[in-house]
This record gives sequence, C-alpha cells and structure tokens, in this order.
Amino acid sequence: MTTMLKITKAGNHGILLPQLGIGLDYSGKQAEHVFVSHGHADHIPWKADAKVYATPATAAFMKLRGARNEVQTLPFKQSVETENAKITFYPAGHILGSALTFVESDYGNLLYTGDCRTPPSPASEGFELPNAEIDSFITEATFSLPVYRWADYEELKADITEFATSSLEDGFTPVFLAYNLGKAQEIMHLVKDLDHPVQIHGAGFKLCEVYEQHGIDLGKYETYDRETCQGKILICPSSAINNGFASNVRKKRIAYCSGWAAMESRRSQLTVDKLIPISDHLDFFELIALCEQLRPKMTYITHTPNPDVVKHYLDERGIKSQFLDTKVEQDD
Ligand SMILES: [Zn+2]
Repeated sequence: MTTMLKITKAGNHGILLPQLGIGLDYSGKQAEHVFVSHGHADHIPWKADAKVYATPATAAFMKLRGARNEVQTLPFKQSVETENAKITFYPAGHILGSALTFVESDYGNLLYTGDCRTPPSPASEGFELPNAEIDSFITEATFSLPVYRWADYEELKADITEFATSSLEDGFTPVFLAYNLGKAQEIMHLVKDLDHPVQIHGAGFKLCEVYEQHGIDLGKYETYDRETCQGKILICPSSAINNGFASNVRKKRIAYCSGWAAMESRRSQLTVDKLIPISDHLDFFELIALCEQLRPKMTYITHTPNPDVVKHYLDERGIKSQFLDTKVEQDD
C-alpha cells in the first residue's frame, strides 16, 4: 500500500472518501455510494442522489422521518462491493439499526463509528467490531471530557424505575425527557417490567413499530393523549414540554435523560426534578478504551467540542490521532 486512504470532512455533510467515490453520512454531490450509519437526522443524507445503503432498521426510520432516498438495505455483516471497495456494516450499539461502517480497499481499510456505544444499548442489536487490524479509524467523541463517565447500567436502570414508582406512589405523573428515536425506546424498554402504561410523544410513537419488528420489547404503551395522560408514565423530547405537553397535568415530576445531565450546570438551565445521565454514546473512558483495543494506524476524532483532550489521552497511550474537523473541505 503506497497511497493512504484520503479522508475529507465535507462541512456539515458527512465524510467523503474521494478516491473511492464513497460518502459516509454524506449528502454532497461527489460520492456515487453513500452509507448511512443510523437514523438520526444529522446522519441522514437528505440531499444525496447517490446510491444509498443502510441497515433495514435505519432504512425504515429514514422513510418514517420523511427521507426521500431510494435506499438499498444492507444487513449487518453482509458485504456490498463497489467498483473499488468492499463495505460491511457491524452493529454500533447506539440505537436500533446503528452501524459501524467498515470499508476495505486497495488504499487500506477504514472503520467509521457514526455514533456508537459500548457496552451497547439493550434496545439495539449490540456492538461488534470487524475482525481486522484497522488502518484508519474515524470516531465520534461527543462526550470528550473525563467528567463524562457513565454509571453502571444496572444503577441507571434502578434510578429510572425508582423515579417512576416513587412519583406514582406520591400521586405525581412521571415524565421522562428523552428524544424520539433511540432514547425514548430505551427508557420504555427499561420501565417495561413495572407493567405500568406508558404514553409516548406522537413522533416517537410511530418509530416504535420498527423496534417491535426487530424484536425489542417496549412493554405496554400508547401514543400521548392529553386527555388521558395523567397517571401514566410519559415520555417526550425536551422541546415538547415547552410546547404544552401535559401542561394540563399539575402534579408531575420531570426527569431529564441525557449524557449531558452529567454536567451539574444543566440543572440551572432546565426546570427538572431529576437529572439521569443515561447516554447512547460512549463515555470518555469507553472511547479511550475502544481506541486502545483497536490501536489503529491513525485515529480521526470528529463530532467533538474537545479534540485536544482526547488527543492528549491517546498520545499518552502511543495512539496516533488527529482532529478531522481541522481540515474542513467544503465540497459544494
Ligand atoms: Zn446518533
């Protein structure tokens, strides 16, 4: 291998591998083949007229969220060959359908995380790495400071169920603030053993059917109904609560479920009763451990406010890294 694989960050439009004509979560015009890591809006190639590939669950989410792309479904661990590369998805543990994208080519291989989590979300297909030495590793680093260390998962589960039961016992309606795709269904999966009816925001409700189709048990639930929501376990995104969600229920307690809840300063910005730092991303130490496990020839850090902190920790461990966003190349 004489020439390294060229990687460019295409502004806010994902990543482009120009030698291969391949885009990763990319919505520019220079890729013939685009691979979508998962169904969150910032990863969907809304504008791509390229050939688009996604896992079956991601393709279903894209459709339900209004993406117009023709999507070719690519199940986990089945490969597709383009003119000059072989591409395989592996489960990324972030949300249902989320995939690590593994690209093999004459320029070496590349593993792109999209968004990922290990240990994986129990409401996902798990987390699995390709069995290969990695040349280039592109990783998100959303929670890129040591202050972000998640509690043991059983502890978080206990916290969530305790919040729901104690609120109900005290005559309050518990409301979990969790965004509509991924976090909401994870909370539903976590509280299902309480066997108490759940109402979820309408935009999240329609996505639940994809979870059911993929065998994830979400318990007893229905779509949010203002008239009947009192005394149910409620789930909605933060924005909904400011727009009148359950505003008729006077006695309610609100829990904010997000990795960002690990920062106590959030408490002053949100009027909530409880902060639950449950995330669908790696925490800082899980990120460093993943890089240590892979020991790629080069690690590219992206989706992060603090690349220098991550780079410092990787330097100390002899892992070569660079911040991808410093070389922003606008493609259109
Ligand atoms: Zn995501």
